[in-house]
Parts: sequence; C-alpha cells; structure tokens
Amino acid sequence: MSKVQLPNTKLFINNEWVESISGKKFKTFNPTNEELICEVSEGDKEDVDKAVKAARNAFENGPWGTTMSSEERGRIILKLANLIENHKEKLAQLETLDNGKSIVSAREDIDFCVRVIRYFGGWADKIQGKTIPISSEFTSITKHEAIGVVALIVAWNYPVMLLCWKLGPALAAGCTIVAKSSEFTPLTALYLCELFKEAGFPPGVFNLVNGFGATVGNALSYHMDIDKISFTGSTITGRKIMEGAAKSNLKPVTLELGGKSPNIFFSDCQIDHCVEAAKDYVFSNNSQNCCFSSRFFVHESIHDAFLALFTEKIKQLKVGDPYEESNNLGPLVSKQQHDRVLGYIEKGKSEGATCHLGGVKHQIDGKGYFVQPTIFTNVTDDMTICKEEIFGPVVVILKFKTVDEVIKRANNTTYGLAAGIWTKDISLALNVSNKLKAGSVWVNNYDNCLPQVPFGGFKQSGIGRDLSEYAIQSYLSVKAVTIAH
Ligand code: NAD
Repeated sequence: MSKVQLPNTKLFINNEWVESISGKKFKTFNPTNEELICEVSEGDKEDVDKAVKAARNAFENGPWGTTMSSEERGRIILKLANLIENHKEKLAQLETLDNGKSIVSAREDIDFCVRVIRYFGGWADKIQGKTIPISSEFTSITKHEAIGVVALIVAWNYPVMLLCWKLGPALAAGCTIVAKSSEFTPLTALYLCELFKEAGFPPGVFNLVNGFGATVGNALSYHMDIDKISFTGSTITGRKIMEGAAKSNLKPVTLELGGKSPNIFFSDCQIDHCVEAAKDYVFSNNSQNCCFSSRFFVHESIHDAFLALFTEKIKQLKVGDPYEESNNLGPLVSKQQHDRVLGYIEKGKSEGATCHLGGVKHQIDGKGYFVQPTIFTNVTDDMTICKEEIFGPVVVILKFKTVDEVIKRANNTTYGLAAGIWTKDISLALNVSNKLKAGSVWVNNYDNCLPQVPFGGFKQSGIGRDLSEYAIQSYLSVKAVTIAH
C-alpha cells in the first residue's frame, strides 16, 4: 500500500479551515486493514448555521452571487476541473484508502469527476430564459435565476464523484453550497476544499461540514435558510430529508436513492459478449453501486449456457488489496456493510436459494471487510435477496419464458433506478424499454453514466435528476416578468 497524503480534516467555511464549535471529532477507518486512518472534525447544528451564513453572505453580497459574470463563473469552474485532473492520483489514492474501492475504479471515478465538472463549467454562461410574445401590449420574459444556498449530502459509495455530480450543476447555476460527505468517507471531499480555493472561488461559495446524518444532515434538511437540498443515499434517509424539507421552509429536494435493478438477457443476445461485459460492470466498485444490476433475468433457452460462462468469468475476478492494480474487488466500506451483506447471503441460503458461487468472506491476515463475488440460483421473486437492496457483490440469476412475464417481474419492485436489456432485436429493445419503470435503461450496455445524460430514479428510487441539462434546471428558479408597452 502506498503512502497517501491526508488532507486537512477540519471544517471548511468561508475558504478557511476551522475547528467544529464543540471540538468533537469522529474517526475514519481503512476497510482493508481495519486500522484508524485519522480523526475528522465533527460538525453539529451550530456549525451548519455558521456555514449557511457564509453561503448566504456569498450569495447575497459576494461577487459570486452579485457582480461576477456567468462567463467568469464558468472559467473558475473549468479551473476546478483542471485542478481535479492534476490531482487525480492523490485523490484516487485517498479514495481507495477511505472507501476500499480498487485503485483502478478510484481513478475512473476521478476521471468522471473531471468530465462532469468540465461539462457543467461549459454550461455556466449558456443558461437562458425565453421571450414570450403575448400581444402588441404585453411581452413576457422568463429569467432563470440561481435558487440560492443549496445543501448537498452524499453517500459513501462514490464519495467524491457523487459530490461532483451535484457541485457541477449547482455552481453552473450560480448557487452557493454547504456540503456534507458521508461519515464513512470524508477524506476526498476535504481534499477538494483546497482545490476550490486554488481555483479562485470566492469565500463562502463552497463550505463543507462533515459529521453525522442525525446531526449535520438533519440540521441541513430542516434549515430555514437553505433553498434547496440535493441528496444521494438510501431511500430511508431520503424520506427523512423530504420530511425535514416539508416541515421547515418547503425547500425543493432532489433525491437519488436506492435500487434493485433488473438486467434482461433475451434468447438472441450474444452470450459471450454479454458475459464479458458483465464481468467488467457487475462487481465493479464491489457492487456498492446504486444501479448495480442485482437481478439477472436470463431467457430459459440460454440460461444454462449463460450461467456456465458467467460463472467461469466471475471466477477470474480477484479479491484483495485494492491498491494492487490486478485486483478487481477490494473490501466493502465498513464493518456494518460487511455484516449486512453477509447477513443477506445467510438469508438467501436459509430461504432456500442455492449459493452457486462465492458467499464467503475473505480476509488478508485475518483483516478487512472483503466479500467474494457471489451468485445465487434457484431464487424466487419473493425471496429477500431478490427484493431488498443488498449493496454488495451478490447477484441473483432468474429464468424467464416470455416478454410480458419478464417485464412484469422486472417491474415488481418498489425501486425504479435502472435496467438493462440485451438483444439484437432493436424493436424488442425499444418496446421493452418503453414498459420498464426505470430512470435509466441501457440497451446492450450497462451502467454507462454520461455527463450529458440525465440520471435518476422512478418510484422510490428518487425524485429529480443528476447530470445533464435537467440537473441544472433543479438549481434554478424561473421568474416571469411581464411588461406592458
Ligand atoms: P445513507 O442514506 O445512510 O447516508 C447517505 C448520507 O445521508 C450520508 O452522508 C449520511 O450521513 C446522511 N444521513 C444519514 N441520516 C440522515 C438524516 N437523518 N438526515 C440527513 N442526512 C442523513 O446511505 P449510504 O449508506 O451512505 O449509501 C447507500 C445508499 O445510497 C444505497 O441505498 C444506494 O442505493 C444509495 N445511492 C444512490 C445513488 C443514486 O444516484 N440513486 C447513488 C449512490 C448511492
């Protein structure tokens, strides 16, 4: 394992590093060896108030929210993208240390951060309203104004990437920000703070208050002076955040929540191609991925051949030290997550499913929260492992006969984040994609998130969209001005 440079671990408010008012700290651990990495300043409600004041002041009185041109804002955002790119290796090393994801995945995450911030930097001076001709006496115009101070709360599975997905559109729209990263993975967001300063963001535009959900997250959700909240995490927490927004100032929410995504393999799909692709995406990020295709529906005519080839490929994946580039899976993020995933594996066995591959923990010198890639067969749709989000490397293989049947079963979930379709028949793919209740449908590819393409959930997988032009809209207020002339 390489020596990783740790960032400043205080709160970041008004472009300054400050201790939390209470002086409390929380610990962040290395999931590979279970050792303490460092202690991080733990924010509380009073720290949130302080950060919100800084963000409000930057929005109402600072250059960012008042005199700065949209072109200049765009230039600063693009500078941030360049700095993230220049610091790619350090950010990736830090992400692997804190989260346990393979260094190869961590580098891919940082590349994606750069693409996303760059994409949104380009948008900053292209946000425009409309002129609406009414009559010879009236003309209306619409103005798209930054919504104000926004809170960004993110999960631990893609710590810096999820933050960048939200930072990009919020900054392009001209908002100011109070962010909170997950208490399990605070380090890369802390590292970003110095890059914000170096890029030239005025004080108060970006503030980071780390801490726990029940305190910092709750204070942000209920805050009367936050104009919008954008959240990525579990459906249970999303509900709490929406409740906080509803019970305070009715701030709008964007919620990116959980999933139990189906991946459908029709009889004409090219099995070897599908399996080769699946080997790359299915257990990547240790399957701690909201759009992880946890339910594989395989047509009965190809089921056995598919399973044999898939098993052979998955056996080639290596679990181990995430800094070793040849390893595909590192440890899960935490002991809680490790216990939870192992608990689901036991539940699958006790409910009568067959653990076809994996299903065991894996440790290095008796340490680390590793789980082998696991495949279950003989699974029925009502089993817990087929219904609940496991958020770990456990996939179930299900057989289907007809198109109508598979659509019904694929949609038989409270979630609706993503889905995959594999077939050479494009009209079948289009018809099925029309009927799947999911925010992202990938045909003959999977988990292919792109800066220009909206990402978000149907049903209990969320509200609103990250990425693309759609994300920017959610950080803007539309004002209609009607002029009599
Ligand atoms: P989580 O909901 O436990 O925590 C997410 C964030 O919310 C953390 O920063 C946490 O501190 C904070 N939080 C916790 N309680 C809070 C409260 N009461 N008020 C405000 N904030 C609170 O989720 P997690 O375990 O970190 O992440 C895993 C979940 O995230 C999975 O369900 C996964 O599907 C989902 N996720 C969704 C997407 C998406 O884009 N749809 C992406 C990644 C992860």
